Amino acid sequence: MAKLHFYYSAMNAGKTTTLLQSSYNYQERGMTTVLFTPDFDNRYGIGKVTSRIGLAADAEMFSRATNLFEQVATKMRQQPIHCVLVDEAQFLTKAQVMQLTDIVDELDIPVLAYGLRTDFLANPFEGSQYLMAWAESLSEIKTICHCGRKATHTMRIDENGEVITSGDQVGIGGNDRYVSVCRKHYKTKQIGRSPRQVGMDL
Ligand SMILES: [Zn+2]
Repeated sequence: MAKLHFYYSAMNAGKTTTLLQSSYNYQERGMTTVLFTPDFDNRYGIGKVTSRIGLAADAEMFSRATNLFEQVATKMRQQPIHCVLVDEAQFLTKAQVMQLTDIVDELDIPVLAYGLRTDFLANPFEGSQYLMAWAESLSEIKTICHCGRKATHTMRIDENGEVITSGDQVGIGGNDRYVSVCRKHYKTKQIGRSPRQVGMDL
């Protein structure tokens, strides 16, 4: 039986790389996958999932209004679909997470969703919250803080290296950087000596 899997982590843990590897594993066996990525993420061009280490694959774009179940059901009428993979799944709405469960339960297609557990204010994302609640399988993709502890939190840093403590949950692009840290160093706002500079989790 197909399952809904949620792979969660802090920023920069390699979620997108893992997603692309999983998709490739299906394709290598002659199976067809469908990839979804948020449509406001145009860092690398429209309709692509691109990882920090340079892997890329074509993807369907989704907005908050997209019905993921309908999209997959329509594609399935043209060819068999063996796996659905969702990048930046934290940006799904509650209704869209329900649509993912319908893809699993009604179409019997496994769904692999990858997303951040919390935003830079340490609040849960809507998508991740319901994936945590409804997925059969929860897996953490681990990354570490500068102190060596597991990183569970993400800090947003401005161009001067200052920790940003207010603003929109969705802050893709711009000059902001994100640094993954442990809870303790999130509380004390210590980013370490050499935070990696990236625009968003990949
Ligand atoms: Zn730490």
